[in-house]
Amino acid sequence: MTTGKINVSVENIFPLIKKFLYSDHEIFLRELVSNATDATLKLKHLTSIGEAKVEYGNPVIEVKIDKEGKKLHIIDQGLGMTAEEVEKYINQVAFSGAEEFLEKYKDSAKDSGIIGHFGLGFYSAFMVAEKVEIITKSYKDEPAAHWTCDGSPEFTLTPSDKTERGTEIILHIAEDSLEFLEDFKIRELLTKYNKFMPVPIKFGTRKEKKAFGIGEEEKMEEIEVDNIINNPTPAWTKQPVDLDEDDYKNFYRELYPMQFEEPLFNIHLNVDYPFNLTGILYFPKMSADLQIQKDKIQLYQNQVYVTDNVEGIVPEFLTMLKGVIDSPDIPLNVSRSYLQADGAVKKISNYITRKVADKLKALFNENREDFEQKWNDIKIVLEYGMLSEPKFYEKAGAFTLYPTVNKKYYTLEELKETIKDKQTDKDGKLVILYASDNDAQHSYVEAAEAKGYEVLLLDSPIVSHLIQKLESDNENLQFVRVDSDHIDNLIKKDDNQISKLSDEEKETLKTTLESIVPTTTYTVQLEAMDSKAAPFMITQPEFMRRMKEMSKTSGGGMFGMGNFPEMYNLVVNTNSDLATSIVNEKDKTAQENLVKQALDLAKLSQGLLKGEELTAFVKRSFELIK
Ligand code: ADP
Repeated sequence: MTTGKINVSVENIFPLIKKFLYSDHEIFLRELVSNATDATLKLKHLTSIGEAKVEYGNPVIEVKIDKEGKKLHIIDQGLGMTAEEVEKYINQVAFSGAEEFLEKYKDSAKDSGIIGHFGLGFYSAFMVAEKVEIITKSYKDEPAAHWTCDGSPEFTLTPSDKTERGTEIILHIAEDSLEFLEDFKIRELLTKYNKFMPVPIKFGTRKEKKAFGIGEEEKMEEIEVDNIINNPTPAWTKQPVDLDEDDYKNFYRELYPMQFEEPLFNIHLNVDYPFNLTGILYFPKMSADLQIQKDKIQLYQNQVYVTDNVEGIVPEFLTMLKGVIDSPDIPLNVSRSYLQADGAVKKISNYITRKVADKLKALFNENREDFEQKWNDIKIVLEYGMLSEPKFYEKAGAFTLYPTVNKKYYTLEELKETIKDKQTDKDGKLVILYASDNDAQHSYVEAAEAKGYEVLLLDSPIVSHLIQKLESDNENLQFVRVDSDHIDNLIKKDDNQISKLSDEEKETLKTTLESIVPTTTYTVQLEAMDSKAAPFMITQPEFMRRMKEMSKTSGGGMFGMGNFPEMYNLVVNTNSDLATSIVNEKDKTAQENLVKQALDLAKLSQGLLKGEELTAFVKRSFELIK
């Protein structure tokens, strides 16, 4: 028997590890299963190159609970260690690693900015165990070894009679960690961290129905089989050519068993230079209210789950996607701010952006109709991407769609071509009309369509920001919402309407209106329109409304314009019969009633009539039809 002192200056590693990593105790299992996996894959490699002359077989890693003995076993059939190797790898390497770790993270381990993965390795066992044993038999023809340590620098190393190749780690679970002797807890951890690890992991058994005998004699019987927790070959480790649509969908279900919506499409990531990254991203159906999503992108390293917080690694606009990325090249024992500044990580993030843009472009080119159908579900992500990632914005022009209220879909170029003859203003700028809510702005949409204008339906919450950006990048474009500044003021008129009213009558109309309508809120504008168009219309200056919206969606007061006064235009059609009636009405009270009623109707169609005013309006209306 060998006894000795592990060569570390820290007197007692075990309480220190506990103290520093209090929040992340559960990762010990991931670390030990990772070691078991490494040992198995190393043996596979050695047998494949002829270095190890043993049968590799179908090795399994087993995790076993001994509740009475308060022990947890992790057993592998990997390459094992000789006594000499235990001395070297466990006593020297592992524990010097522990010391280094403690030195490095003394001050910062509690910092929440650190990602929950430190590459702690073997000694993380002491976070939950008061004593750890290693019983290991090397693939080499040497006796097995038995190492024991209670977390103090003292260890014992004796020969063991273990005959099968591989390593068994026995954790004597500490009193404050007894939860790790519960079946459900271990199952939960294995499912969380080890679900896609490359070597099968057995945890308990399960019953399976199996047919015995043939024909008439056939009988179904229940048998016990190993319960394998993981899928060692998840879809992202395969080549895209070997996968079809169903494989991708099935993997999505495997990843998010509680998610019942199918994804819209997927993007397979696969690069090995200048960094290594694989993965599959999915575009889920997205609703406009961006509800808090719990199924997030998961980050793996060599099929070991690390985190579902990919902030800093995946560009922000794509964190709304789902799926996995697996990269050994992402430094994890660093803070988020470091991560964002790291050159390699920036490259990864740019690569992902580029792949997503390329995929969208391909989908658009291959099946435009299908792409149009999906547009509503993906536009939020894309619009957000255009606003936040210049590299994405550059590419997005090729596939960004602008749907009309009638569900026609244009690219910006197509739209320009379509409207160039009809919708230009006095300075030759193209005027793009849009509605943000087809129901609320229905009368305005109808009026614009009656004039032969195209009206877009741009209804996502950040659209005012996007419009602002498009205008600043395209000098000859101007977006105007249908209920904004009266559109006929902007668009060069092709039919010169002749006014029914004389100049004198117009003057009378204007003074009458201004004496009745509150002019602090409404600016009266007279306009000669088609006689069938609405007699009164309320519009709001585009600029003012947009600024208000933008300050709302950027956390308030972005331009210090949170407290805009409510200012509207009251556009009165001088060719309407109502305008004539108002001018000709001699009875002052009747005239006032006409104007008030018309104003209320205009407010009603803008959704501005509420509360007391609405009650008064309803009352007056009943009076009128009495
Ligand atoms: P790391 O895995 O990062 O190298 P660890 O502290 O986890 O660090 O382990 C130290 C070393 O101990 C490993 O590199 C490996 O050589 C050896 N080791 C740990 N677990 C096993 C195992 N189950 N089978 C064989 N060797 C192991």
